Amino acid sequence: MIPQSEQRSTSVPPAVTVACVLRDNLEGATVLVQGWVRTRRDSKAGFSFIELNDGSTFENLQLVVPATLQNYTSDVLNLHTGASISATGVVTPSPGREQARELHVSTLRVLGFVEPTEYPLHKQKMSFEHLRTVAHLRPRTNTFGAIARVRNAVAMAIHDFFQSRGFLWIATPIITASDCEGAGEMFQVTTLNLTNLPRTPDGGIDYREDFFGRPAFLTVSGQLAVENYACALTKVYTFGPTFRAENSNTTRHLAEFWMIEPEVAFADLHANMDLAEEFVKHVVSSALTRCPADMRFFDQRIQPGLVTMLEQLATTPFERVPYSDAIAILARANVKWEFPAQWGADLQAEHQRYLTEEYFKKPIIVYDWPASIKPFYMYVNDDELTVRAMDMLVPRFGEIIGGSQREHRLTMLDKRIAALGLNPANYWWYRDLRRFGTVPHSGFGLGFERLLQFITGMTNIRDVIPFPRAPKLVEF
Ligand code: ATP
Ligand code: MN
Repeated sequence: MIPQSEQRSTSVPPAVTVACVLRDNLEGATVLVQGWVRTRRDSKAGFSFIELNDGSTFENLQLVVPATLQNYTSDVLNLHTGASISATGVVTPSPGREQARELHVSTLRVLGFVEPTEYPLHKQKMSFEHLRTVAHLRPRTNTFGAIARVRNAVAMAIHDFFQSRGFLWIATPIITASDCEGAGEMFQVTTLNLTNLPRTPDGGIDYREDFFGRPAFLTVSGQLAVENYACALTKVYTFGPTFRAENSNTTRHLAEFWMIEPEVAFADLHANMDLAEEFVKHVVSSALTRCPADMRFFDQRIQPGLVTMLEQLATTPFERVPYSDAIAILARANVKWEFPAQWGADLQAEHQRYLTEEYFKKPIIVYDWPASIKPFYMYVNDDELTVRAMDMLVPRFGEIIGGSQREHRLTMLDKRIAALGLNPANYWWYRDLRRFGTVPHSGFGLGFERLLQFITGMTNIRDVIPFPRAPKLVEF
């Protein structure tokens, strides 16, 4: 008896992806492809053309299906957008200008039909708002397929970047008792029965009864945790989900998003800026080289000029500007500001755009910011007015990275904690890093989805994550 595996290999041709048919030299080979119908067109010459997509690449594979197939009338003529099929055929050079190769089909099997009047996706252009209401099906569109592939490539590039430089990936906790920056907007995690809360004698909630015995939250940042690991393992990073109960509907805020946070011991602010610049250049060029067809689509359909802009960014040195100089430049500028630039205030969008688009005409890193507008953990400069913070600003987009050298001197850290009215007891383990073998260290953070918005040109952050979470939005 022939073993089943050999039987299969003689009777069923190898299953290959659409990417493989279009890219590899398979001409003349008989292969099996599987995917979803994008369109069907019937020719009078005795066959139908099917555009097949399986997500392996942006492009579709053209199937040429002869009317002589035994199930042509019953199956093929009933195929509509969205139907799933498998087909075997011979890979053949295509006479058409649209594609180099096509598949001449000898058998076609329908896995799942689609009732076209009920299918929410159709060939006409659909708004991104509409597609958010069918988030379970939107990955079948050109745009969302491209986003998924670019998102994957950028995630891999981020790990590559750090791994090739000897960084360790640290899984920082998702549930935490500490609020990193003293900012509210945290989601609480509890197993208490909300309809019958245990009470303390004075009427408060008795958190001793809660799962962790005290209030707990979803993390808003892994930074404080990752600092601990940098102060032992030197070069580390986190890359994972973070949560903010941002009660605002903007095109840049999600309630659940991913954050990338490297942290390096023995590194000052300048080393930190070097790392940030190399990082952005690396991930941007990876997206361009790993996903050329997807990036061409974003360039043509989403943001004209995108690819050239990203290529330039990946090859030009960024400008570094002390905050005080940036304010001076803005004050001298012959522009009617809505908000005049003032030392001690954050840079407004109009200021960011002027600096990156008009004045320097390239990405810039603004550093040494007023202490009064930055969090407690940043290294205080000798002037005691500024801290070693940096923001990377890019043309058209604005801030893409924020980071700092951390305050590693305990007395200075305590001064800042007190000045901001924070409770030092809550930071006892963070303070311990400064009590025991403290070292200068630096790091930065950036939102993964913001980075993807920048790279794809997508306007709304809800469109660069598979299933966005935002106020009143958790359907899928
Ligand atoms: P913003 O001013 O845009 O709200 P932030 O100052 O609150 O940002 P940080 O606390 O510095 O941001 O967080 C680090 C990074 O995380 C930001 O630079 C941004 O890229 C990203 N980020 C912050 N909040 C969100 C959010 N709600 N959704 C997606 N990304 C976010
Ligand atoms: Mn914010």
